[in-house]
Order: sequence, then structure tokens, then C-alpha cells
Amino acid sequence: MEPVTDNKTEQQVQIEQINHRRRRIQRLKRFLTFALCVLLLFPNVTCVYLLVQNFHMNKKIDAIYQMISEDSEQTYLDEKSFSNDSAEEIIVSEPEEEYVISDNELYPDQKKVYLTFDDGPSKYTNEILDVLAEYDVKATFFVLAKDGFDEEYKRIVEEGHTLALHSYSHKYSKIYATPTLFREDVRLIQDYVKDRTGQKSVIYRFPGGSSNTLVDFDKEELFAILREEGLSYFDWNVTSQDAGSVKLSPQKIYQNVISGVSEKENGIVLMHDAADKHTTVEALPLILEELTSDDTYVLLPITEGTQPVRHVVSSYE
Ligand code: ZN
Repeated sequence: MEPVTDNKTEQQVQIEQINHRRRRIQRLKRFLTFALCVLLLFPNVTCVYLLVQNFHMNKKIDAIYQMISEDSEQTYLDEKSFSNDSAEEIIVSEPEEEYVISDNELYPDQKKVYLTFDDGPSKYTNEILDVLAEYDVKATFFVLAKDGFDEEYKRIVEEGHTLALHSYSHKYSKIYATPTLFREDVRLIQDYVKDRTGQKSVIYRFPGGSSNTLVDFDKEELFAILREEGLSYFDWNVTSQDAGSVKLSPQKIYQNVISGVSEKENGIVLMHDAADKHTTVEALPLILEELTSDDTYVLLPITEGTQPVRHVVSSYE
């Protein structure tokens, strides 16, 4: 009977050893499963933590911006004469909803020059864009709705210039007949440009300027419409005088621009991009050669950071 008992004991020992090993393997498996879960969960928990932190930081930044923009809501009444002739000019800074670093803050030591081209696109738009590209200068194009110039609208945007609005039809009698027709015209040109470039313009120039005398109802209605449509309007304080009935030579246009901007800290220059204005295109290299010859001037496109020049200012501004 002894050997049998011994044999049984040996078997029992073996079984116990096997069971013991199984338990160890199961413990190891549980540990590995747990470790794997922790490893998988860790990045997710970290992400959630960072998102929460990011949310709190954004709230703090918004609060700081809010404080800064409230401080920067100032109104300037400044300078006289908006053209080389002399007329009334009032310059105001926009009440800002969010803080935008102004061109004056970015370039405190240089005179700012904003070349603006009205009434385009035209058969000369590409030529103007070529010259601007050659001098690496960005400008502002106040455009109308003109079929057959889709590539020009796109090129203006793609090359970093400001594509701004100057009405759909440019027909004074129609645009300024009633506030409703004015709003209709603004929406038409906004949509026309957006369809071609995918971009919503935020800058506007009144045909004839904000001081035009073609409106026989309260002009405040026009200003209110622009505000409602998300547009800020800009006039000019330097004119190339290329819009007159007498065709000016490139040299004369060059002189008008250079003498005008030399008197301004922020010179918004009125020029035209139109089929009968080739001398403007010819004057452009002369103007750019002069204005880029040293650091006196910086040439910029009009943006929300540009100090507006307005011949007539809304009383609500
Ligand atoms: Zn015009």
C-alpha cells in the first residue's frame, strides 16, 4: 500500500504545481491586461485634461482681449483736406469688436501708403498686378461686377491684395435712389465677388466717395446698412487725379501721388483700374521705385487694422 500512497502524493504534488503555475499565469495575464488598459487610457485622459486647460486659457485670453479693445476705442479728429485740392477730412478709428493690431502699431516709425485702384477689373488689371508683384507691394482693389474677369478677381486675392467692394453697378442714380436699392447693390457685389473668390469682403468704398451729394435722404441710413452688412468704408486723402476728363501723363500722376503721400502719415491714394487709364499703369513703376527706395514708407493693403479715412463720418461711429 505504501508505494500507491507515495504515487498519489507525487501526483497530488504535480497537480498542485500545475495549479500553482496556472494561477501565476492568470495573475500575470490580469496584470498585463491592466497595464495595457492603463497605457491605452493614459493618452485619452491626458487629452481631456489638456482640452479642459485649453478651454480655461481661452476664456482668460478672451477676457484680456476684451479689456484691451475697450481701452483702444478712441476717436480721432485729425487733419484737413482729403484731396490735393483741399476739402474737409475727418479720420476716425473703428470701434473694434475684437482686438486687431493696427498698422500704426506695426509700423510706428514709417509713413503708411495704401494704393487703391477703383472701378476694376479692367483689361489692365493683370498689368497692374504684374508691376505690384515686381516690387513685392500689396494694394487694394475696389471692384465692380464685371463679367469676363473671373481670373482677375481670383488673382487679386491669391496674390495677397485686398479685394474690396465699390458697388455692383456704379450707377449713382440707381444705387443712391433709396436705402433699399443701396442695400440690394451692396449684397449683389458681395455675392458676386464671393462666388468668384470664396472670400467675403469687409472693406467698401462709396461710388463718388462718402461725401457725394447724390443722396437725398439721410446718409446715416447708408452707413447703418454697411454696418449691418459687415462692411467698413474707406475714402482717400491723396488723389492721383487720374479720374479727370483730361488724360494726365504718367509723370503728372507720379508727382500727384508722391507730393500727396509725403504730407501724410497714413496716405490712402485714389487711383483707377479702368480701360481708359493706361497712364496710371505707366506711372505705377515710377511711384513704386520712389516709395520703395528706402524705409521712409511702408506700402500696405487696407485691412481691418488700417486707420480709416472718411470724408463724412457717421454720427454713430
Ligand atoms: Zn468709382
